[in-house]
Amino acid sequence: MNVFVTGGAGYIGSICVEELLNAGHHVTVLDNLTEGHRAAVDPRAKFIHGCLSDAALVAQSVRDSQAEAILHFAANALVGESMTNPGKYFRNNVASGLNLLDAAVVCGVKKFVFSSTCATYGPPDRVPMTEDLPQRPINPYGESKLMFEKMLNWYHQLHGLEFVAFRYFNAAGASGKYGEHHRIETHLIPNVLKVALGQAAQCEIYGTDYPTPDGTCIRDYIHIVDLAQAHILGLAPGKQGFFNLGNGDGYSVRQVISTCEKITGRQIAAFEKPRRPGDPPKLVASAEKAVRELGWRPKFPKLEEIVATAWEWHRKHPTGYADSAFPHS
Ligand code: UDP
Repeated sequence: MNVFVTGGAGYIGSICVEELLNAGHHVTVLDNLTEGHRAAVDPRAKFIHGCLSDAALVAQSVRDSQAEAILHFAANALVGESMTNPGKYFRNNVASGLNLLDAAVVCGVKKFVFSSTCATYGPPDRVPMTEDLPQRPINPYGESKLMFEKMLNWYHQLHGLEFVAFRYFNAAGASGKYGEHHRIETHLIPNVLKVALGQAAQCEIYGTDYPTPDGTCIRDYIHIVDLAQAHILGLAPGKQGFFNLGNGDGYSVRQVISTCEKITGRQIAAFEKPRRPGDPPKLVASAEKAVRELGWRPKFPKLEEIVATAWEWHRKHPTGYADSAFPHS
């Protein structure tokens, strides 16, 4: 298929692009490189440097790519930042995304695959979380993604746009070539691995008074390549709707740190800090629906395997993409 990918220079997008190309698809990437890195875009893909807010550019790029499917990763995705700068989230994730939805309709795109998040649920009534749980986000990031989900539903009903929206739990790990490099890193696993690499003296634990067995937040970590595979399955005609993507296993912040110690063989000092605003205590997926309806089978469900691939990538690329040859990296 001809696949148009927004945010294909970002962490999740870049590895999905790699997997799409490996599966024989033709890929055009649109990315403004504010978060992404030019060097993270597989050279087999066509690259367009541009912004989703530019409606004319978006429409022209989708048309030129002869897209049969759109994968929409481009977004701001930090819970903490969304609590201090909500406008950024509603503008970029909702308003600019609308340009892409309109382009999909005008260009007759057959399938729209959207990166949503478990943050659309807010603190759940029960875990593991199924897709039918009420969605009550407690931060603007989750709210912005929920708003886009609702727009997608209306475009499906009124324009017949077929979509798959994946509610990601915590993406982590690396492929052989591509990995996680945020210019300002806020995510747990890369920050913990920075200590193991000797790039930081200690990591931080945000909150030790949550109602969990060890007092720290519990998350469901999913390997980035497994996440990418689900997107490829979602491209099949007739696949439609909302799907959670996680492994069904919850790990606390302290458990993640001790797993990183085990995998790296290094001691990792941790400093206890207050809670980070906007964080629900426990998010664990049921991905039964993706297994049943898409035939999704995660290959790397264990946290050890996820951390091991992340560690391998960070050790090989201690500065991430910073030293790469591309001018916009
Ligand atoms: N966290 C932490 N220290 C860090 C980064 C994150 O304790 O340096 C916690 C955070 O509060 C959350 C969990 O680790 O409970 C996962 O956070 P992350 O930012 O990786 O992903 P999120 O769940 O926000 O998407």
